[in-house]
Amino acid sequence: MTETFTGSFTQQEPIPDEAIEAAMAVLRHGRLHRYNVVPGELGETALLEQEFAAQMGAKYCLAVSSGGYALATALRAVGVQPGDPVLTNAFTLAPVPGSIASVGAKPVFVGVTENLTIDLDDLEAKLDQARVLMLSHMRGHLCDMDRLMQMCDAAGVAVIEDCAHTMGAAWRGQLSGRQGAIGCYSCQTYKHVNSGEGGLLITDDEVLAAKATMLSGSYMLYERHLAAPGPEVFEKIKYTTPNVSGRMDNLRAAILRPQLRDLDRQVQRWNERYDEIASVLRDTPGLTIVERPEPETYVGSSIQFLLLDWSPERIAEVIRRCAARGVEIKWFGGAEPTGFTSRYDSWRYAESTPLPASDRILAGVMDMRVPLTFSLDDCRVIARIIRAEVGAVYQS
Ligand SMILES: *Cc1c(COP(=O)(O)O)cnc(C)c1O
Repeated sequence: MTETFTGSFTQQEPIPDEAIEAAMAVLRHGRLHRYNVVPGELGETALLEQEFAAQMGAKYCLAVSSGGYALATALRAVGVQPGDPVLTNAFTLAPVPGSIASVGAKPVFVGVTENLTIDLDDLEAKLDQARVLMLSHMRGHLCDMDRLMQMCDAAGVAVIEDCAHTMGAAWRGQLSGRQGAIGCYSCQTYKHVNSGEGGLLITDDEVLAAKATMLSGSYMLYERHLAAPGPEVFEKIKYTTPNVSGRMDNLRAAILRPQLRDLDRQVQRWNERYDEIASVLRDTPGLTIVERPEPETYVGSSIQFLLLDWSPERIAEVIRRCAARGVEIKWFGGAEPTGFTSRYDSWRYAESTPLPASDRILAGVMDMRVPLTFSLDDCRVIARIIRAEVGAVYQS
């Protein structure tokens, strides 16, 4: 009998009871807007920022309406102007170049390696073209952050980290988002914590923190923040920083606080699932596992493998056969953008120069989500199905 899988690749776990209780309390008192607090009250959003800053070991934290908004705010805060070039990954998700376009700036795409990280040689060659790098830790893969920071520091290039897939990950023990000038996180349903929509931004730089806070729409109420710099820093920037409203609200913050307290345990559960799948897929003929470098502490909330140098027809055949057995694989190499996947050359609002070495890799990147609703048994079934179908097409 042929095994099939019947679970859902997009079903996350329910919101924890503690978070539901906290959300209900906010709904009952009705003060959803972050600055709507009674005297002496510390709002959920301000507390979330205080707790996330402490968890990440950052001086400052700002909660906002989405991960993409956090990225755009970071770009504005570091002073990116319309027309400025901004270095970024060719392999990433649409909100990343989108955030650059949203401030009128121009993405300069940097290639991807077989490890699915930014190509540091390509980056080195392009470092003189921009003063900001929007570094996307796409699908949770961390590049050699030591070399990257060394290069960018030496060239005077500010690094903004897109940690949408690396909340809880680390490089050489330092949490992801702490190497660059600003770290940005997404709290939407498909990421590591789930408030539907939402974003977090952290930094140790007081001026960047004050600017980001003003930008997010603090009016002159920034003293109600618990993880923002003092009023003297806001004095320097408050007349010259526009309000581009994108605040988080107390309902989402209430939902997030208990989830963040549980992050380490969730990371462990993701990795148990990831490692299970990786161990079954390893050594499948024709399939390349993306091995994780020793200094990287990863969060296996999704898994990637490569079908390098396979024809598009054969890749489509693998995807079709897996889908027929209930296993949803996403393909970043497809010519047409579909669902969440697209290629750098599908973002036609941004000019791009062809990156042939990256195109070869992108053409073979297979991607699969690993929601925590999967049991370890589910993971073994899924991996066996992929192994069998890749094998069948490889041998045909
Ligand atoms: C989800 C995501 C974002 C942006 O997050 P939103 O909260 O959806 O705006 C940014 N970068 C990557 C790589 C993402 O996957």
